[in-house]
Amino acid sequence: MPRKHKTLPRLFIDQPLATGDQLKLEKAPSNYLVNVLRLNEGDEVILFNGQDGAFRATLVSGSKKAAQLEVAEQTSAQTPPSQIDYIFAPIKTARLDFMVQKATEMGVNALRPVQTQHTQMSRINYDRMRANAVEAAEQCEILNVPTVHEAQTLEKLIANWANTDPERKLIFADEETDVTDAAKALKPLGQSKVAVLIGPEGGFSEAERELLRAQSFCVPISLGPRILRADTAAIVALTLVQSNIGDLR
Ligand code: SAM
Repeated sequence: MPRKHKTLPRLFIDQPLATGDQLKLEKAPSNYLVNVLRLNEGDEVILFNGQDGAFRATLVSGSKKAAQLEVAEQTSAQTPPSQIDYIFAPIKTARLDFMVQKATEMGVNALRPVQTQHTQMSRINYDRMRANAVEAAEQCEILNVPTVHEAQTLEKLIANWANTDPERKLIFADEETDVTDAAKALKPLGQSKVAVLIGPEGGFSEAERELLRAQSFCVPISLGPRILRADTAAIVALTLVQSNIGDLR
């Protein structure tokens, strides 16, 4: 598929978008366009907001506090959100940044941190998580920025599942499962809504593993014979899901 505007910089903005709009940007995106990307009046950029698709726009005034843009034609229609949520035990900051960026690139619809017994990081910087998701979407031509959810405990997540998300299957990356053929376990899920769960560096406790395995909506899968670090496990699990029931088929 030819990508007409692939050389133009992309910017996520939290404002409605339509052809003909005259947009005044807030300080941070203005600074990004004028000071970081060093755009001049007349230069073009691709804008998207996660709702209205992507649009070509021209910088009409280069003020670094309030840049103004004129919105031209729509370049991509809005893509529907994916059926995949990503649930993970928070890990150390640098690896969490990487994990959030990769999960966004892999097309997840929501980022849902979960507190488990061996979770290393209790304090979560939600703004940083969101910024990493937006940056990954800008760089990878993704039109859906995943929603960032508040952390909850694994017990609460499981207890509320039947009431809040009964259709969704929970794909549990379990390094101790004997379900070694992930494709065979995933294929029957077809078009269902799913969530992929990755544990902390310290792994799930026996009690947590038992709790998860006891749930009818839970599908344990192995990610192979090697114990992967959590951020690597994220990429492997999401690739398995996208290639068996998602958009990598
Ligand atoms: N501390 C655990 C251990 O030594 O058994 C390893 C935890 S691993 C670093 C972090 C998470 O990645 C696990 O909780 C699991 O969700 C996932 N994971 C890593 N390797 C995996 C594998 N081979 N199969 C399934 N899940 C895996």
